[in-house]
Amino acid sequence: MREFTYTANPGRVVFGEGKIATLAEEVARLGLSRVLMLSTPQQEAQARAVAGALGGTCVGLFGGAAMHTPVAVTELALAVVTETGADGVVAFGGGSTIGLGKAIALRTDLPQIAVPTTYAGSEMTPILGETQGGRKVTQSTSKVLPEVVIYDVTLTLGLPPALSGTSGINAIAHAVEALYAQSRNPIISLIAVEGIRALARALPRIAERPGDVAARSDAQYGAWLCGICLGAVGMALHHKLCHTLGGTFELPHAETHTIVLPHALAYNAPAVPDAMERLRQALDADDAAAALFDLAGAVGAARALRDLGMPEAGIDQAADLALANPYWNPRALDRDGIRKLLKRAWAGEPPQQG
Ligand code: NAD
Repeated sequence: MREFTYTANPGRVVFGEGKIATLAEEVARLGLSRVLMLSTPQQEAQARAVAGALGGTCVGLFGGAAMHTPVAVTELALAVVTETGADGVVAFGGGSTIGLGKAIALRTDLPQIAVPTTYAGSEMTPILGETQGGRKVTQSTSKVLPEVVIYDVTLTLGLPPALSGTSGINAIAHAVEALYAQSRNPIISLIAVEGIRALARALPRIAERPGDVAARSDAQYGAWLCGICLGAVGMALHHKLCHTLGGTFELPHAETHTIVLPHALAYNAPAVPDAMERLRQALDADDAAAALFDLAGAVGAARALRDLGMPEAGIDQAADLALANPYWNPRALDRDGIRKLLKRAWAGEPPQQG
């Protein structure tokens, strides 16, 4: 077996249908008596209902969480932390709200309880990306890891089917790249395979029946595992391409990941036979890249970058940008190969090796 280093991120996970009912218990377990609830404006009513169950232990609700953790929003929330004398935060929502909880923890060391309602997986990572003056700055520090995470499937039942599909495939992308990461290790690879298996089976069922509790529960379990992968090992070509495409052409995050993943995997496939074998098992398919392309179709997601608004002229620009800042990838990056990959992703064609 090759050498490896494995770092387990700390944290307590409470998983199960109706487990939001344990929130008061978890607050008490952490010795907190004045928590501040966080949410987006869209989820404020739901967060308020959850806060109600905490009685006087909840001293307020800040409902201003926003995409990409703007520092200006964090400063508003910090003022509420000070005003209310909060001794902990409960982040109720998706990656945006959990990002706000992390940004508060970074500056105050306050304990966090995360209650995720999407499949983004941020609650499992020591990563925080914050935006200020139009720039996103990302850092990794264990200071931002939540102390407790409560996964309650009932809170995900209202996640719109389209968002469920792309958010789930975005999670799968973390686990796929974990299988061939430079810092890969056998523990994370086990977690990655299990996460991919759970999500790949659950997502088409959710697309058919968004209220299917068993499928939703499997997807939430898979998303948790894929989040662990993102938080534990480095990512490669797929994540770099999506970052470039998103930033340059303002393409939506999860949808872009969903389109690019089969193509980035097909590009890397010749260099990562072990990962491909594990993916064959996880996806129960001979051609993992084709299976991921089919999965995007099964959940009704867009499969062409042009359908997200990327101009054709952007293919060359993105290929240049993808090669501009060298980073580790299992297969050497060649411009022609990257260009072909991007062209197929742009047009919505099936993935092809080479
Ligand atoms: P989000 O948190 O922005 O949520 C999208 C919208 O859906 C919001 O309006 C939200 O209120 C709503 N919503 C969430 N759950 C819902 C539910 N169950 N039912 C109905 N509506 C619901 O989206 P996201 O994809 O979870 O997170 C994206 C953000 O998280 C991005 O800023 C991304 O950069 C960040 N992220 C960070 C990490 C990390 O490790 N730091 C990992 C993944 C994502």
